[in-house]
This record gives sequence, structure tokens and C-alpha cells, in this order.
Amino acid sequence: MKIKAAVLHAMGVERPYTASKPLTIEEVELQAPQRGEVLVKIKAAGLCHSDLSVIDGNRPRQMPMVLGHEATGEVVELGPDVHDLAIGDHVVFSFLPICNHCMPCMTGRPALCENGLAANNKGELLGGGFRLQNQQQEPIHHHMGVSGFAEYTVVSRKSVVKIDKTLPFEIAALFGCAVMTGVGAVINTAKLSLGQTVLITGLGGVGFAALLGALAGGASKVIVADVNKDKLAKAIELGAHAIVDSSEADAVEQVKDLTNGGVDIGFEFAGVVQALEFTYNATGRGGKTVTAGLPHPSKMMQLSPTKLVADERTLQGSYIGSCVPVRDIPAYIALYQSGRLPVDKLMTHTLQLEEVNEGFERLAKGEAIRQVITF
Ligand SMILES: [Zn+2]
Ligand SMILES: [Zn+2]
Repeated sequence: MKIKAAVLHAMGVERPYTASKPLTIEEVELQAPQRGEVLVKIKAAGLCHSDLSVIDGNRPRQMPMVLGHEATGEVVELGPDVHDLAIGDHVVFSFLPICNHCMPCMTGRPALCENGLAANNKGELLGGGFRLQNQQQEPIHHHMGVSGFAEYTVVSRKSVVKIDKTLPFEIAALFGCAVMTGVGAVINTAKLSLGQTVLITGLGGVGFAALLGALAGGASKVIVADVNKDKLAKAIELGAHAIVDSSEADAVEQVKDLTNGGVDIGFEFAGVVQALEFTYNATGRGGKTVTAGLPHPSKMMQLSPTKLVADERTLQGSYIGSCVPVRDIPAYIALYQSGRLPVDKLMTHTLQLEEVNEGFERLAKGEAIRQVITF
């Protein structure tokens, strides 16, 4: 079938994106779902910093590619051998397909799924190959098995989680990346305990979701750090207990003064090495520093091994919030529905597919938290 999609042909084009328009809206060919796959009509897709990192070249991927990995939609066709979904079901995409039979999947760590990662790195679906092609019959790559900036998509059954139909689509989209990554980092990766103190550095969609997760999870004090004053003000509105401008020379001391010499758990979501160093230094003795930020792969950090040992510190990475998507997405949705995880407050803009470049320029300028394309 012919569908409209936002295609990225080259990474690293000049800003402003409103002028250079890195994503072009094109008519592309989408093949029918193969064995174990489904055709989904996209209803909403969020603009995430990881999409921006592909556009600006910080997270290199194969070109051309239909971007978009935080999305939701309605199942409209089932490929052969899909028996546990029905046409009309609402689904949220998991941007890592979970194969359910590799060693990490079999040992309870699907966030490390080897087959899902291999498919994502190749820009293919879990079942191998491409279902998208251009007018010249050349393949177009899939973004993390999702490619949500399109009217329809074909994905592996293992890339979708069925959700409650009463949830509005523009809210549902947020659970696919921002909420899963942010709340999951707090609950699954760091295993926040009631009463612990928390620092969150980097207020994008993931950072704000982590703030809500830390509040819902029972943190006694949540300190947020960023260089953007508007985002710090928004964090206070959402319930943060204290703010720190991380560009100030004494930022680490400010966090230490607000706590008993440093937080129990520090989270870094800025994707900037200095932000990770700051967060590590502001974490107290015996504490844990968790990062889900993704700086350019060439970047290295400096840390004191002595401090790591003598303070019994932990430095830990977190990918898709160490989530089990089929367990966590419905659980986080239920928390939203009961009022304890108000993720709707993260949405700052809704837009049309044709406005996607304007949206990414706004994200690059730091003027948006979550923008959602609706279809
Ligand atoms: Zn697996
Ligand atoms: Zn994302």
C-alpha cells in the first residue's frame, strides 16, 4: 500500500531545521505484514531527543530511514501466525523488539534482547529485511522496528504491547519511550526505596517522566538540575522539591547542601558527559548514579576509581528503563489513570506530520518537552 511518511535521507544537515527540512514527507510503499507481523494505523507519535540525535548525527543510523520510535496506533491487519491480537486493538510500540528466546530475554532482562538490538542496528524488522521502499523500489530502513512518523507501519508482533482502549492516543504515545525510559530508570534500574533522595539532571521528556516516577515511587526529596530556567520552573510546577542550575560553578555543593552530603540516587538524562560527571559528583557516599543519556559514541568520561571504591558507589546504565514492556507499559498506564503519574503534563505541543521539521527545531532549541504528532 502507498502511505505518507517522514523520511530522513542524510544526517547532520545544518540548522535551523525549519529551513533545511531534514525530514521530507513522501509517498512510500509499505508491504503487507509477514509471518509474526502486524499492520498498525499510527494514531500518535512523539518527537524524542533520540530521533533528534539521528537527525544531527550523534546517533548514527542507516539512511534512508523513516524515523519515529515513540508511538501508538490501532491494529488493522494481522500477518500469518499472529493469534494473540485482534483487529481494532490499541497498541503502544516498544522501540526494542523483545524476541523472548535469547539469553537476556530468557534470564529476565529483555531490555538487553540481542536479536532486537541486532535488528535495530541494521534498521530492519525483527523478522529480517524491510517492509518499506521508495518509488524506485529501493529499501527504506526502519527506526528501531517502529518508524512511527508515518500513516501506517508494519512491525513485529514483538514490537507492540496491547493497551487499554480508553486511553487517548496522544497520551498513550508517551508511554512508548519517555515514560518507559524515565520511570523505568527510577523503578527498575535504580530500584528507588521509599524515602530516598534523588537528583535528576537533564529535563527532557525522559527527565520529566523520571521526576514524576520518583515522586510516585516515594522519594523524600527530588532535586532537578538543568541549564534551562523555564524547564526548572516547570519541574517545580510538577512537584520537584528543589532546583539547581547545573551551569553554576558550585552546583555540586548546592546539591550536597540540600541533602546530607549528596543524593542517594543521581540520574543523568542530558546525554552530555559534563552532566554525567556533575551527577556522579553530586551523588552521596554509598549512592548510585544511573544514566540513560546517550552522548556521541566517541565521548569519554572522567571518574575517580578511588571514590568509586572507597565510597562504595555504583555507576549504572539504563536502557529502555530496564523495562519488561509487556509488564511495565500497562502498569504505568494504570498509574496515570489513577492520577499518580500525570504524564499528560509533559505534552507541550500537538502537530501534524507536515510540521515535523518545525517540531525538531523547537526540540533542538529546548523550547518543548513532548510534542506529539497526531494522525
Ligand atoms: Zn531476546
Ligand atoms: Zn525516545
